[in-house]
Amino acid sequence: MTCPKCGKRAIRFTKWFKGSNAFATTCESCSANLRANQTTVWGFVVTLLVMIPLVVFAAATYDKSMGPEKSWRFVAVAIPALIGAAITYAKGGYVSKDQ
Ligand SMILES: [Zn+2]
Repeated sequence: MTCPKCGKRAIRFTKWFKGSNAFATTCESCSANLRANQTTVWGFVVTLLVMIPLVVFAAATYDKSMGPEKSWRFVAVAIPALIGAAITYAKGGYVSKDQ
């Protein structure tokens, strides 16, 4: 994610992925106040829409008698979340709040 003011990287993926910085952050290079652009917001919406049915399915079909070998279904929910986040990070961006 590049900063619209200085053109440098505004945030690292590891920091961005933690969530709270995804929608509003301060540029690591020039300290500009930034908020997520529409592409980023839509990336999150689409990722959530993909995840919700997967989470519901994983929870609805989960049985406490299942062993750890059945917990793959929760890992399967995390995979589209990671892919969605990676695509959103790659394609999304920020706009300056200071304009
Ligand atoms: Zn900047």
